[in-house]
Amino acid sequence: MGTTTTRPISAPQISFINSLMDQREVPVELAAEIVATMDSWTTRQASAAIDVLKSLSYKARTPKADAVAEDDLADEPGIYEIDGTVYQIKANRSKTNVYVMKLVDTEYVYVGAVYKAKLTKAHRITVERAIELSGLIGQCIRCSRVLTAEKSVRQAMGPVCIKKI
Ligand SMILES: [Zn+2]
Repeated sequence: MGTTTTRPISAPQISFINSLMDQREVPVELAAEIVATMDSWTTRQASAAIDVLKSLSYKARTPKADAVAEDDLADEPGIYEIDGTVYQIKANRSKTNVYVMKLVDTEYVYVGAVYKAKLTKAHRITVERAIELSGLIGQCIRCSRVLTAEKSVRQAMGPVCIKKI
């Protein structure tokens, strides 16, 4: 018999199985059996169990304790900041919905729905902070344009964007 079939279950397999059991809808009896017998499995048995767990559907999302209450969620286009990370909420083309972009270096990358970034109305930045951030990255914090007009350079933001923070 090859050693791969007789080696006992590995620590990474145990932690993977535990995380799968957290994520998936595992029937109670199966979960009980796994917990009771897992320690004595071989790596092969563990792999088989992992395959079974991966075939199960994900648990429905349950609100976490740190989830933002729906009323507090930011819903207006603008610039927001959490712990030094800058986000921008934008409206879709038909203005029926908003989505979040995150500033990475000097570019905004797509994040998705507002709840994913846990942005609240209170995270919206002030015009003063927008000017400060624009100065720090050397471009408008809202539209990413490099500023050229003398007045814009001085205040680090263009006249259109500054009204939309
Ligand atoms: Zn701008």
